[in-house]
Amino acid sequence: MSSQTDYDFVRDTYPNLSEQERVRVDLAAAYHLIEHFQMSDSIYTHISARVPGDKEYFLINPYGTRFGEVKASELVTIDLDGTIIDDPCDMGANPAGFTIHSAIHGARHDVKCALHTHTVAGVAVSSMQTGILPLNQWSLQFYHGVSRHKYEGIALNLEERERLVKDVGPENKTLILDNHGLMTMGENVGEAFTLMYNLERVCKVQMSVLASGQPVQPIDSEVCELTYQQYKHFAEISQRGGFHAEWLAYLRLLEKVSPTYKE
Ligand SMILES: [Zn+2]
Repeated sequence: MSSQTDYDFVRDTYPNLSEQERVRVDLAAAYHLIEHFQMSDSIYTHISARVPGDKEYFLINPYGTRFGEVKASELVTIDLDGTIIDDPCDMGANPAGFTIHSAIHGARHDVKCALHTHTVAGVAVSSMQTGILPLNQWSLQFYHGVSRHKYEGIALNLEERERLVKDVGPENKTLILDNHGLMTMGENVGEAFTLMYNLERVCKVQMSVLASGQPVQPIDSEVCELTYQQYKHFAEISQRGGFHAEWLAYLRLLEKVSPTYKE
């Protein structure tokens, strides 16, 4: 009986939320999905989203929460310096972890959401000189558009932020933080999440292939290029009433497995 009610939120309420409300719901959903798909790292790493409007404000999880505990109404609002603007639960934010995000948000206004993970497969690939190898169909989504940034230690000083922004560049939406982890960026939360979901699988497959020790079946470079372009095309035609069909599917999944995200 509950499935009808559950689906009602995504079908009826979600499309009618204000832009500000939807960003909150989307961001909380992304936290829950990252935990659901086992891409979280205890209370660490962040997903940040730009608050719609004139001010340079961003939403982030309250410090100390597991990703599956995040609620839309409890997200912390901070500015680019990590100063807290609004903190409904009085739990604060983790400004050190936000430094990478603030560097990107400050330089790339097209980025509405930045999603950072430390997963075993992601950290493993970030530790390889090769980066993402064009091994299979999934990986060809990342044939172009992946930036890398050299590891400089945990603390990000002002000079490193400038180098990070230079490394990310003006267009790329995928970043390998060398010897550290992964970051994806999106024009909305859904894009950043789906990119990360796919990137994580690519890293897992790459680890499996390399661990097998078997010779790799090569893909012609023209086919790699074609497949990359096909992925771009599919992303453009997957909209449903202004919403990406894949994102709506993930929201419906959360209605079943972790519906508290939207509270
Ligand atoms: Zn990190």
